[in-house]
Amino acid sequence: MADKLLKREDLGKLIGSVVGGGGVFVAPTIDARQVVFKPVTKAEEIVTDYIVARNSYKEYVFPQTEVVADYTIGKDGVDLRSRKVEPKETVIFGARPCEASSLSALRAVFTWDFIDEFYTKREDKTTVISVGCTKADEACFCTTVALSPETKTGSDIYLLETESGDYLAEAVTDKGRAFIKKHASVFGAAGGEKAKKLFIPEKIKGIDPGKVAEKLSDKGHYEDPVWAELTRKCIGCGACTFVCPTCHCFDITDEGTAFEGERRKNWDACQFDTFTLHASGHNPRDLQYKRWRNRFNCKFSFYPNKFSSKGCVGCGRCIRVCPVRLDITEVMEELSK
Ligand code: SF4
Ligand code: SF4
Repeated sequence: MADKLLKREDLGKLIGSVVGGGGVFVAPTIDARQVVFKPVTKAEEIVTDYIVARNSYKEYVFPQTEVVADYTIGKDGVDLRSRKVEPKETVIFGARPCEASSLSALRAVFTWDFIDEFYTKREDKTTVISVGCTKADEACFCTTVALSPETKTGSDIYLLETESGDYLAEAVTDKGRAFIKKHASVFGAAGGEKAKKLFIPEKIKGIDPGKVAEKLSDKGHYEDPVWAELTRKCIGCGACTFVCPTCHCFDITDEGTAFEGERRKNWDACQFDTFTLHASGHNPRDLQYKRWRNRFNCKFSFYPNKFSSKGCVGCGRCIRVCPVRLDITEVMEELSK
């Protein structure tokens, strides 16, 4: 229940308190005429009129590149020293409920057969404050994948904008409750303020997620010519994977000299032709449609079958950024037939 009120005029105080305490306050802001998640230090930098930020906030829990170890190669062999990750307290403000629910997808993979502390320690220090959507665009399809602007899973604090521009606040997790307690001076008691109406997008009529899953579970679908037909225009740029809140593939590279250097963890993308290129020169995903088919299967088959979390949260980012307008929902519709 939203029993607290965060006044818009107190946002600056909240930011000051987090940043003054050594933390990072990430929020949607304008950069190069686009709404993006970036660290802010003033309330005036925050944008409130947006649908979803162009980038996902995943880069604050899973950076695009980071050093995980240092190495030295000497006469006595290789000395590999792990880096310690000591993340700052991070607040993600203004996440949409769809992407907030994506964090469990990242956690599932980074704690599956190995606990990746570079991820878990960052997520543990991150508080997600989501804001329910009062509008959507034609790329949004959260309700088609069984989510909605009312979804609170993944949010630590869930906000609803009020008619007067403030926020009704509900603590969803213990972390959210602790955050509100710590910043009690800006989270006052709510007293009958009226929330703006949420915009609930209609489910896409031609999509039946059950049929999509059924089709993908039949291994025969792999050779269906529909994959090549539907995805022929994909140029393999990887933009869809980099903006996707649930995509998590990375590569490990050593950068340095023959004697010393750094071991880095870098974002990678299954849409790149070198992603599955073997040292022998053989590439099991030698054509772009095979790479696209893999991404789609990852979202709607491999991932939900292996973990209980979602592979796609319907945020629509991949549709908005794709330079050739390859729309994932069109493929979902085709497979639903
Ligand atoms: S696949 Fe596309 S719509 Fe689904 S979560 Fe990723 S970016 Fe969003
Ligand atoms: S953004 Fe579009 S063109 Fe680029 S890899 Fe993704 S589907 Fe292909």
